[in-house]
Amino acid sequence: MNLIKRHLKTWLLWELVMGLALTGRYLFKKKITVQYPEERTPLSPRFRGLHALRRYENGEERCIACKLCEVACPALAIVIESEEREDGSRRTTRYDIDMTKCIFCGFCQEACPVDAIVETQEFEYASETREALYYNKDMLLEVGKRYEPQIARNLAADARYQ
Ligand code: SF4
Ligand code: SF4
Repeated sequence: MNLIKRHLKTWLLWELVMGLALTGRYLFKKKITVQYPEERTPLSPRFRGLHALRRYENGEERCIACKLCEVACPALAIVIESEEREDGSRRTTRYDIDMTKCIFCGFCQEACPVDAIVETQEFEYASETREALYYNKDMLLEVGKRYEPQIARNLAADARYQ
């Protein structure tokens, strides 16, 4: 019986008919293809994109150079150097992230006690050179400045789950 069924399926091109039926079913359904970059899908507030260093509203850097992010980073992508200021506070003199090493795990953001290092929803930063993917402190602060409203909104949206 099984043999007859198999032969029938072969001669009737059953798999092909099934495939065409599936294609036919989707032919008149609403299309879900997005015409990127003109159209975009929504991103989660937890999306892990390009990193940013943040400042407080008064312009002071949030980062206190505790180096927890550097320790937490499994890819050894973060390098921090710091020094004490005249007022006794400690701040970084160097804060580099090598995006070619980063695996976007988010551990640095989770480790930071002052929400200084965060990951934004920016993902369009591809480059033709590796050098352009070595982000230094100034570049990270600049990203933070550019995306602060978005960062604050996403952190607020996620705060109740922290
Ligand atoms: S996201 Fe992960 S891999 Fe990338 S810098 Fe942060 S801790 Fe390191
Ligand atoms: S970014 Fe946060 S975790 Fe990293 S050194 Fe600065 S304060 Fe510490």
